Amino acid sequence: MPTLPNTAIFYFMHRSILIVEDEIAIAETLAYALSTDGFTPHHVTLGQSALDLLRSAQSPKPALIVLDVGLPDMSGFDVCRRLRQFSDTPVIFLTARGDEIDRIVGLELGADDYVTKPFSPRELVARIRAVLRRLQAATVVLPAAAAPRFELRADEGRILYYDQGLLLTRYEYLLLRVFIERPGQLFSRAQLMELVWTNAPETLERTVDAHVKAVRAKLRLINEEDDPIQTHRGMGYSLVAE
Ligand code: CA
Repeated sequence: MPTLPNTAIFYFMHRSILIVEDEIAIAETLAYALSTDGFTPHHVTLGQSALDLLRSAQSPKPALIVLDVGLPDMSGFDVCRRLRQFSDTPVIFLTARGDEIDRIVGLELGADDYVTKPFSPRELVARIRAVLRRLQAATVVLPAAAAPRFELRADEGRILYYDQGLLLTRYEYLLLRVFIERPGQLFSRAQLMELVWTNAPETLERTVDAHVKAVRAKLRLINEEDDPIQTHRGMGYSLVAE
């Protein structure tokens, strides 16, 4: 395999979009809109094919995944749940069902956006661009300032970390906010479930772990040296007080 210069790999990574959708007409329409916009779409019809592709060291990682919820072999939610165990590639869910439960489940699983069918391909491409732009902005590393590492902007629903806006899903935001508001305090998983997932009775302790992991990954994108969330084995988590 020829060696690509880093810039070429970067370019590829940031232009390649994986579409996981069993309805060929929808996938083709979206793939067409993506290619006319300069993206390189890849398409698979099964959740398992998507996971195999994403796990494979040979295939380049897509910049983003458009994931249908109703797939023939497993639900898009299951695909996302498994994906989040080894990857934080952004996900936009596609679903025929527009109800609140799905939206919340999707966001809880670490999706970055959510589009209900039928959708306009142009609109979806614009949403993809918006997610990638936010992510790119979050990965630009600035020199660490003397100011506190976190800045909670509750009225905007945003958290800055070393002056960079974090791209957080709803539950990641709520979780990190709990820590920031009480630095140094140890929270058990049960307490975090109570404080963060107030409207989701199906929440499991491993949901808390998955979200802590996702938040850590996003913090690392901004500052690799700092690991402010401490794990207390068998007890829970706390934010290191500054
Ligand atoms: Ca489908």
